Amino acid sequence: MIKGKKLSLLKKKLGERAKFDEPLGRYTTFRIGGPADLFYETETEAELVKAVKLSRELEVPFFILGGGSNVLISDEGFRGIVIKNKVSNIKFQEGKIVAGSGTPLARLVEEAANHSLSGLEFCVGIPGTIGGAVVGNAGVKDKAIGELIEKIKVFNERGEIEYINQDDCQFKYRTSRFQKESGVILEVVLQLEKNEGKDIRVEMLRFLETRKDQPKEPSAGSIFKNPSRQSAGELIEQVGLKGESEGQAQVSEEHANWIVNLGGARCQDVLELLSLAKSKVRMKFGIELEEEIQIIDEL
Ligand SMILES: Cc1cc2nc3c(=O)[nH]c(=O)nc-3n(C[C@H](O)[C@H](O)[C@H](O)COP(=O)(O)OP(=O)(O)OC[C@H]3O[C@@H](n4cnc5c(N)ncnc54)[C@H](O)[C@@H]3O)c2cc1C
Repeated sequence: MIKGKKLSLLKKKLGERAKFDEPLGRYTTFRIGGPADLFYETETEAELVKAVKLSRELEVPFFILGGGSNVLISDEGFRGIVIKNKVSNIKFQEGKIVAGSGTPLARLVEEAANHSLSGLEFCVGIPGTIGGAVVGNAGVKDKAIGELIEKIKVFNERGEIEYINQDDCQFKYRTSRFQKESGVILEVVLQLEKNEGKDIRVEMLRFLETRKDQPKEPSAGSIFKNPSRQSAGELIEQVGLKGESEGQAQVSEEHANWIVNLGGARCQDVLELLSLAKSKVRMKFGIELEEEIQIIDEL
């Protein structure tokens, strides 16, 4: 809990926009999460850097929240500052897009199509921000955002602004170096292909079509990564957990690798289903499922 001098300093420096005890469920696609001691929305890069600097100086834990579509936040919330990233400026430069890290992926896909820039079509229907997408190297079966990255502008752990080229981002299946470091992504440079001939919108529709059977209830998308050459959903289905519920959380009837919130689910309910799926799959197949979602439950 942020208290005393630190609290009054934060109030003074962050001003009116800082909210106290803000419930986080409304900022996550799971609709789950207790209150943050302090919640601060940043609209410019300068505000984002300022908030991170201040948290580090005062040694107050901070958490960067993008679209909240890949997180499961504790029912007790977060003891520290949640910095909601809404930095969403976009520039076009000869086949490249330079985007603030809080830019919604949906907006980038749309703007790229408007400028006849091809490459981002597979991201249609993935919620969240470009910053969050880079952190988890979001993608579909054979494509991921990391392939389109030229470089990333980061406010690093040493408090410096640094540019990191694609080769140094350690992009692998649903992961990158940014999951291990506490640096903050400020801006992303994407290299796309100028393509007047190819019908970008037809390609977008093709990708959208593959999503039509996805569960519609609040969720965070796939819960587990697919183990090599296997489908996490099929493994969970084979241990008989499709439709299994705990409180208001349920292993989706449509897709066993999705846990959905039927209304009022708690983080604890989801965690219990998650651990049940892990232990049943481990026992039956000897496979250790690894979470794709980021779990924020340390207090
Ligand atoms: C309906 C649905 C469908 C989905 N489909 C897909 C899919 O097809 N493919 C796929 O890969 N994922 C999918 N997802 C998961 C999710 O949308 C992606 O992982 C998305 O890229 C997360 O972005 P976000 O902005 O919401 O990140 P958040 O959930 O806000 O954050 C995720 C992590 O990134 C960190 N982070 C966010 N921004 C920054 C930043 N600027 N600097 C440093 N760290 C940061 C956060 O601290 C957190 O640890 C889906 C989710 C839903 C709900």
